[in-house]
Amino acid sequence: MPADYDYDLFTIGAGSGGVRASRVAAAHGAKVAVAEEYRVGGTCVIRGCVPKKMLVYGAHFAEDLEDARKFGWTLGECRFDWKALRDNVLADVDRLNGAYTDTLQNHGVEIFHERARITGEHEITLAGGRTVTARYILVATGATPHVPECPGSELGITSNEAFHLDDVPRRVLIAGGGYIANEFAGIFNQFGAHVTIVNRSDLILRQYDESLRDRLLKISVTKGIDFRFHAEFRGIEKTDDGALRVAMTGYDDIEVDCVLFATGRVPNTGGLGLESIGVELGDKGEVKVDRFSRTNRDHVYAVGDCTDRVQLTPVAIREGQAFADTVFGNNPTTVDYDAIPSAVFSHPPMAGVGMTEGEARNKLGTVKVYQSDFRPMKHVLAGRNERSLYKMICDGDNDRIVGLHMIGPEAPEIMQAAAIAVKAGLTKADFDATVALHPTMAEELVLMR
Ligand code: NDP
Repeated sequence: MPADYDYDLFTIGAGSGGVRASRVAAAHGAKVAVAEEYRVGGTCVIRGCVPKKMLVYGAHFAEDLEDARKFGWTLGECRFDWKALRDNVLADVDRLNGAYTDTLQNHGVEIFHERARITGEHEITLAGGRTVTARYILVATGATPHVPECPGSELGITSNEAFHLDDVPRRVLIAGGGYIANEFAGIFNQFGAHVTIVNRSDLILRQYDESLRDRLLKISVTKGIDFRFHAEFRGIEKTDDGALRVAMTGYDDIEVDCVLFATGRVPNTGGLGLESIGVELGDKGEVKVDRFSRTNRDHVYAVGDCTDRVQLTPVAIREGQAFADTVFGNNPTTVDYDAIPSAVFSHPPMAGVGMTEGEARNKLGTVKVYQSDFRPMKHVLAGRNERSLYKMICDGDNDRIVGLHMIGPEAPEIMQAAAIAVKAGLTKADFDATVALHPTMAEELVLMR
């Protein structure tokens, strides 16, 4: 590397992708700096997957404590304290923020805790006014919640603020029907709030298999979550008693205490100066990249949500790793986007890998579908009438499993292992040849009809 740049790599954004790329590039011998305007760790660690999962765990106790009586336990008075959970979760986020910072520093990565902007071909200017140069620039600025425009939209919150609420709102309206909407609907519902999901279409979680979506919808309704479909926001206004009155198309107004916008996330690329050096952006503001995460400018790369490929943390991490190995490790590496497993931490959770039944029927000649619709043993004893559904989609020509979908307790945990088999191209016969591990829920995977 020529010595006339301050750094070999300057990364903008210390989230999942940026941290991995910076750390690995430094391990390959590069002189690296990273700028982060908020907190090291990014959305997933600071205000996304990690604290959300802790809230999901906390929420599940509502049903576990109820069920405990059926298992012979006598419980004293049970009371939920939101502030205790919130503060414990936020304290753990602080711990993780420290761990991510340590990781970078232990690898000799310099951290600038301020916003950075590209101001020249190889030049970055920090909010404090300092200007530095770098041979390569990596954009890893993630995504930011999209809030649809409507009068009073500023009265609502997004998932960013949901982790900091003073109390659990008594009545919550969640706009959107995707990941965040269904996950927070489950969390707030279990904490005793009345939840209404309002979505512009009549589909929730449109990328998941229809049978699972239907099952989640049915269970959610049984748990007391209301749904309003084909409803577009007209506006939000504050009433005299501090509540929020929401007007929407096709339905009466509704009064709630909190409106949570969960209407997608858009690439966070505004004001970065990308256009000033001719980096090409797409319609949503996403940084356009090739399979090596390189933009149309040879020395500028981008990884993670800001590229709007697959908005998932483990994918951003892989992209960051591949970038660092390619550019600084002399090992050109691309990311394989085929058969990425994903999960929704709803109540109950669901998980999927590969094609849905609909996709498989559109793409393949013949398709075989196997399923198991069962009541988990724990639910039977607890008297909880909540059924799980596992579904396997096979290519009719060769029996290869092209999709696997599950809704039920621990579905994401089971899916991680099963996804290895799907990724490896195993067949239904391979699953059938495996002896069941009894009694488990996962054994249904090898017993499907
Ligand atoms: P999603 O893309 O999952 O869902 C967005 C929802 O908002 C859809 O129901 C969509 O409706 C609706 N919507 C989109 N735009 C508008 C609009 N302008 N007006 C009204 N409604 C709109 O986004 P989320 O915000 O829930 O999550 C963002 C991303 O974060 C996810 O895509 C996912 O990649 C990631 N994530 C992953 C999680 C996980 O892995 N467990 C958890 C949380 C987030 P329609 O279907 O009609 O388009």
